[in-house]
Amino acid sequence: MKTMPDTLLIFGGVAGGASAAARARRHSETARIIVLERGPDVSFANCGLPYHIGGEIADRADLALQTPDSLRALLNLDVRTLTEAVAIDRAEKAVRVRSLTDGSESVISYDKLILAPGASPLRPPLPGIDSPLVHTLRNLQDMDRIKAAAADADSVAIIGAGFIGLEMAEQLHHIGKQVSVIELQPQVLPQLDAEMARPLENVLRDKGIELILGDGIDGFETTPDGISARLKSGRSLATGLVILSIGVRPESGLARDAGLELGPRGHIVVNQHQLTSDPDIYAVGDVCETEEPILGKRAAIPLGGPANRQGRTAADHIFLGDKALPYPGSIGTAIVRVFDHAAGIAGYSETRLKMEGVPYQTVTVNGASHASYFPGAETITLKLLWSPADGRVLGAQAGGKDGVDKRLDVIATALRGRLTIDDLAHLELAYAPPFGNAKDVINIAGFAAGNIRDGLLVPVPDLKSAGPRIVDVRPAAAAAKRPVPGAKNIPLAELRGRLGELDRSQPVFTVCQMGKTSYFAARILANHGFDARSILGGAHHQL
Ligand SMILES: Cc1cc2nc3c(=O)[nH]c(=O)nc-3n(C[C@H](O)[C@H](O)[C@H](O)COP(=O)(O)OP(=O)(O)OC[C@H]3O[C@@H](n4cnc5c(N)ncnc54)[C@H](O)[C@@H]3O)c2cc1C
Repeated sequence: MKTMPDTLLIFGGVAGGASAAARARRHSETARIIVLERGPDVSFANCGLPYHIGGEIADRADLALQTPDSLRALLNLDVRTLTEAVAIDRAEKAVRVRSLTDGSESVISYDKLILAPGASPLRPPLPGIDSPLVHTLRNLQDMDRIKAAAADADSVAIIGAGFIGLEMAEQLHHIGKQVSVIELQPQVLPQLDAEMARPLENVLRDKGIELILGDGIDGFETTPDGISARLKSGRSLATGLVILSIGVRPESGLARDAGLELGPRGHIVVNQHQLTSDPDIYAVGDVCETEEPILGKRAAIPLGGPANRQGRTAADHIFLGDKALPYPGSIGTAIVRVFDHAAGIAGYSETRLKMEGVPYQTVTVNGASHASYFPGAETITLKLLWSPADGRVLGAQAGGKDGVDKRLDVIATALRGRLTIDDLAHLELAYAPPFGNAKDVINIAGFAAGNIRDGLLVPVPDLKSAGPRIVDVRPAAAAAKRPVPGAKNIPLAELRGRLGELDRSQPVFTVCQMGKTSYFAARILANHGFDARSILGGAHHQL
């Protein structure tokens, strides 16, 4: 029988901490639940912050989901804002806290403690980094400062082209700023494979946003008109305002000082119930690392969904003990909107699988977001990665103007369910012309993956990897409009009658617009004895 804690102390009162507190109250009406929050707000919508800066969320109050008073009224929580935990005494089971209003200190005893302090934005020790014009974005106060500073600036430099950096680029462009984005990697959204991020780069450039890729920041200098960012390449960029979005660091200092086990990058190590190396202390959210369920590796994934669900998991274990369901691990499902485009990932990218030395196979397919004959259909590009040993899905990335979120969610579900490429081929997804396709792009990815496994499709990743005998099977007009260099155009409908024009003794590489017709052509050729290979994903994004 589990003993109910008298006092549950939580520090960090936003995503993970507030979720844990709410769930805890649903288990017990009698437990004393104290939530300490360093900032002035609890349970606010950090994911919405960029959208108030850009005016899309017009009312600031919409981001403040709860207040200490509403949490007391609804959940009988003792919420203390502007109160910071400053030390954990594990032997005494007590936390020393400091009031940020008057500096006074006191000690609060706990039966169970949940650490939910999150992660803070990185601010590397560069010259000039402490300038008031260099901002990071984590909470409502940061948002207010950026919004006020942006009102006085014509231009903004965003350092880091990850999810938050791109959201900020979009939103600051909305309010008329000249935006430059600087990214150390040679691509935006380095969480994605380069070719899947490229369409976003085109969208950003088309909007007049300057992309400085493959270059880092060396320091900042204040100028009479604003600030100048010095880049590693030697270039200087004069701007009115800088936003740093180069990643986060777990706020695990108190846990480290208390002797809790930390992982290699400073995250608190927890088990499946979010329990740390101390049997009375849990950790949830951005501060901790858990096991991911795809390859079973340790992973720290700083996202809102995992933080909320981990908070719930910790509370369940405190009140239900062994009857509580474990946290099944985070797979890393993330998406960003950049103007009328969206792109995202679930699970592993090809780059990360290579880094991990994990064998994989991949295919990229294109499909329509809904029936192509129904108005408004848009192309979705889906890159799928799976294990050649058993066909299990390892990850996917998707991009396009419509329906990207739905496909990523299907893949996330497939990853959670440990589904295979054959399962994807036969997923029965919602279909009527305004919504989907009789063969959804998810099914098509499953078909193509199965074809590769069964030898029906010999894939070539891109035009660069093709040999000299490329046959462009698009209609003549399309091939003439955007020709593939060095390719011979034989439209699919003419192929059977023109086989004599091709050399059977050499590999033939077929290409089309979106990757499907070239597969059909390669099958015709293979069935006539050719060594035919199909260029994946089509020429549309490669020309
Ligand atoms: C601008 C922005 C946009 C984002 N967009 C998305 C998105 O679209 N999708 C997504 O999945 N994720 C997004 N995230 C990430 C998501 O918000 C985080 O993963 C999530 O909030 C982490 O929850 P957490 O509880 O671990 O930490 P937080 O929500 O950061 O909460 C931790 C709190 O603990 C407090 N604290 C720290 N130390 C102490 C202490 N010693 N004593 C008292 N209090 C303390 C901090 O002040 C902080 O308020 C975004 C984050 C930001 C900043």
